[in-house]
Amino acid sequence: MKILFKDHEFKYEVEATVKLFITGRFEFLYDCVDADGDIVSSQIRKGKEYTYLFAFCRLGEKSVRKAYKLNNHDADKSICEHELCRLIFLCLKSLTGIDPPWGLLTGIRPVKKITQLLDLGANKEECFYRMKEKYMVSDKRLELAYMTAKNQMPLLRSIDPKSISLYISIPFCPTRCSYCSFVSHSLDSAVKLMPEYVRALCREIEIIGRIISDLKLTVDTVYFGGGTPTSICAAQLDIIMKTLADSIDLSAVREYDVESGRADTITPEKLAVIKRNGVTRISVNPQTFNNDVLKVIGRQHTAEDTVNAFKTARDLGFDNINMDLIAGLPTDTYDSFCHTLDKTMELDPESITVHTLTIKRSASLYSDPTEAYKGNYAPRMLDRSIELLPENGWLPYYLYRQKNTIENLENTGYAKKGYESLYNIFIMDETQVILGAGCAASTKLIDKKGKITRIHNYKFPYEYINRFGELMKKKQQITDILGEMT
Ligand code: SF4
Repeated sequence: MKILFKDHEFKYEVEATVKLFITGRFEFLYDCVDADGDIVSSQIRKGKEYTYLFAFCRLGEKSVRKAYKLNNHDADKSICEHELCRLIFLCLKSLTGIDPPWGLLTGIRPVKKITQLLDLGANKEECFYRMKEKYMVSDKRLELAYMTAKNQMPLLRSIDPKSISLYISIPFCPTRCSYCSFVSHSLDSAVKLMPEYVRALCREIEIIGRIISDLKLTVDTVYFGGGTPTSICAAQLDIIMKTLADSIDLSAVREYDVESGRADTITPEKLAVIKRNGVTRISVNPQTFNNDVLKVIGRQHTAEDTVNAFKTARDLGFDNINMDLIAGLPTDTYDSFCHTLDKTMELDPESITVHTLTIKRSASLYSDPTEAYKGNYAPRMLDRSIELLPENGWLPYYLYRQKNTIENLENTGYAKKGYESLYNIFIMDETQVILGAGCAASTKLIDKKGKITRIHNYKFPYEYINRFGELMKKKQQITDILGEMT
């Protein structure tokens, strides 16, 4: 597929629009309007009074052409970009018969658009009208985004401007899942580095602790993520958590999460350490309760192991457990996914997060992405979750989209009332500062005007350990930017 541009440079948005309909690789051609084979061509022509927008798409033998005229006063850059993408969207919709559930919305935070409208005083009808008119979002997704916005708004308003969240990264996993796109390192290769990694992480936590206390900030939420934080041993987890408690005042923390994740890393000993250190919410992630699918994705545990891990956590007193599921896993069927949903609800966790399979270049499945997407049941699986979970008391409270997700679908967190994860909401809304510690963690600083600055830690453990001094110099920015919050 060739994407052609004439007299404009809206490559990013045009490509994102084309990807709503067509997967695979694209060739980009500039300053021309036609070429051989399948094409998406767009052009802007400025006249004396009007600006003319043109789109032409050809797939095989079929082609569609569309045009739009804007008064020059209205033709600013963002409107031209949006209208041009709308023309391309309409051409491809008519050629392919595909009707993307999120319409023309390509961003990762669709809920934010609803929240902004609600903040401006719009009611539900007005929100739906605006979102349909501008972005052509389906009713089902609008309802989902609206419910999510309504559930998270009071929690977003509860943020104290001087509070921050902490992210602690343990980027290790016992083995790598075939769809994995995260920077996670297999334990086998990292085992020798582990004591040094834990020491460096603890030092970084102490440094962050001093910054927090100098700037008189309070910690609102703590999130241990990865990888799989429970990949490391109970003693190492204990050292890190004790360092955290000794270096940082955790008395105002409203939520302390550990993404325990995979059942093959969860032991009663580790859960006891986590509990003793004050963790309030953990995840035990089945992804699927189908053992054949677990094998295909490279997991070394069974569905029964997940049930046992969940029950052990309950026995140890964990009363806020999340379970992650993935819709669209290779070889999973609609019925098998429905079984996974039923089984998850039967266990009765406080929250259930339904992800859609995303395959990035770094994942081993990416060697043939079309195979993973072909005949995939993910859209039906998500539709079933959207119906079933709210009916049974799990309401949507956070939602985001990622690139390279099957049919550009979404990931949604559902929770029982009062069990919504604050950290998940805050990270998506980008309204709270997040200080990250550990390899591959990132720090997100937001100044008084809302400008975001990110500081990324090194991706690989050996780099994080060996270049620790350099990294800590970069962290001076935290004090510079957040100083004004105090
Ligand atoms: S558990 Fe998560 S982070 Fe670890 S390999 Fe699997 S997908 Fe990647």
